[in-house]
This record gives sequence, C-alpha cells and structure tokens, in this order.
Amino acid sequence: MLHAAPTPTPDARGAVLLVHGGAWAIPDDALEGHRAGLRAALACGRSLLETGASALEAVVETVAVMEAHGAFDAGCGSVLTREGTAELDAGVMDGATRAYGAAINVRRILHPARLAAYFLRAAPGGARMLAGEGAERFAEAAGVEVVLPETLVHPRERARHAALLAADGARARGAGTESGAAPRGTVGCVARDRAGRLAACTSTGGTPLKPSGRVGDSPLVGAGFYADARGAVSCTGWGEAIAAAVLAARTADALAAHAPHAAARERLADLHRSFRDAAGEGATGGLIVLGADGAGAWAYTTERMARAAWADGADAWLDV
Ligand code: ASP
Repeated sequence: MLHAAPTPTPDARGAVLLVHGGAWAIPDDALEGHRAGLRAALACGRSLLETGASALEAVVETVAVMEAHGAFDAGCGSVLTREGTAELDAGVMDGATRAYGAAINVRRILHPARLAAYFLRAAPGGARMLAGEGAERFAEAAGVEVVLPETLVHPRERARHAALLAADGARARGAGTESGAAPRGTVGCVARDRAGRLAACTSTGGTPLKPSGRVGDSPLVGAGFYADARGAVSCTGWGEAIAAAVLAARTADALAAHAPHAAARERLADLHRSFRDAAGEGATGGLIVLGADGAGAWAYTTERMARAAWADGADAWLDV
C-alpha cells in the first residue's frame, strides 16, 4: 500500500522542516518513543531555523538529536551487524552549493551526521566521503566526540541481535534484507531556511544482521539523500534497491514535472515495481521531500512511517 501526502505546512514562505524516523512496521510499544524523538528533533530544528540558522545547520543538528535519542536505527539506537557491532553511516548535502559529505561505517562516532558535515565543509584532501578508521581520524578536527564502540550498542539491539541470530534461516534472511517487518528506523531531515536555501541529511545504523563493512544507500549522495536548488530529499528502506534506483536524486528530478507528493508517489511506485526480492516482493521504503517553494511531502510503502513537520507560521505536526 502506497501512502503519499503533502505535508501540512500552510505558510510556505518562511522556513520549513521535515523529519523522518524510518518507514517499517513500527510496533505499538515503540510508538511513544518514536513520537518523543520526533518532538525533540522538531524542537531543535525549529529553534535553529527561527533564529536564522542555515538549512544545512538545521538538518545536521535535527538529525543529531535523533542519533542521541535511542528510539531509532541511528546513533546509539543502531541495529547491529551480524558480527554484533554497530556501524553507522550518514550523509548531508547543501542544496545551495551542492557540496556534500558522508561518514561511512564508523564505530566510535555517536554523531556521524556532524562528521559528514565536517567532510562537506572541509573536504580533507579533497575527500567528501570517508569510511571507517579513516573517517574517525578526523573526529577531533571536526569537533565530534569519540566514544567507545560499546556505547553505540543499545541493550534493545543486543537482545534483538541475539533473537535474530537464533531465529530460523527464513526470518534471518528477511531481517537482513528488504522485509518491511525488519526494523528500519533510519532518520532524516530536509529543510528550507528563511533565505530559501535547502538541505538534506540522512543517518542510519543500516539493516539488522548486515555483514560488517556493508554500505547501504543512506550515506550515498543521490541515493539516501540529495539536495539542490529545486528540492531536498531523505530516503529510508531497502538500501540496495534505493541505491540502484538513485532514489533521492530521481525524486528531486521529478519535481520539475510534479508536486512533491506526486513526485514521491511516482518514485516509490517505481522502486516497488522495479526491484524484487527472492520471494517476488517489491522493494519498500519511504521518503520526505521538500521543494524550493516550501511545499513538502512524505510517502511510504510500509505499514508505518515516523514523520513530522514544522513551518514558519504553522503548528508542529507529527505522526507515526
Ligand atoms: N536504507 C537503510 C540501509 O539500507 C536502512 C533503512 O532505511 O532502514 O542501510
């Protein structure tokens, strides 16, 4: 079932902020935690944008709130690799300059979004995407805290990991790939600031039981996140399919012909049609998209999606 709707952000002249905390069959007992995380994230982004921060700063700090929250598959709530480690990915793009940065497979960084923002700004040695220990070496220069790897292993995820490993092969296969029932709490944010600039940021722990070293769509520019002068997009879902579909950039492209909710609907329907798992199920996921005129939308093909929005002159809005 494909859900797609314009975001309730009536005054589209000022700043706009859209947030997501993943698209999957979020269980009832996790809803309140997700709502609390969305509320905290919105409050952070809103106060930044209201005091004149750039869209770039707002998306990074909004995502950082969700990385620290624990309810989501990002930062200290990340799902674990088959080996039992937390390996985090994040990417960020400034629509005004089309500069981007990505931190991939980091194990000692609570806030990979902030490290990705450093790579966007500083591009050390010309590099914008850095992985593993090579990325972590820049933590001090980036002013990003380094933590013990165990700090990023949430007790909830330790228990889930043990259960998934013990489960039968079919379940383990589903959890490790595209199943909409597998936890998918990737977080993301898109924003427009009062100067009209757009930005997008996505952060994740990836998919449960992924092999150590696996890279999904989330830190890949154009796939898990994208922003230019026309639009900003953050995606979640089956990473291997989203990467092949170049989903974020293609959704931004679709804004040339469609309103955001129609662009999102068209691209997610195409993802579902074009990529199938071994059982013949179409690829699922969700995205948030914001156009240059401040009109936003979300869309998802899963049971639920954690999502929220705020705009100048409007009340904050959220749903899971
Ligand atoms: N897209 C993420 C990944 O494949 C997972 C997700 O969004 O749930 O790493």
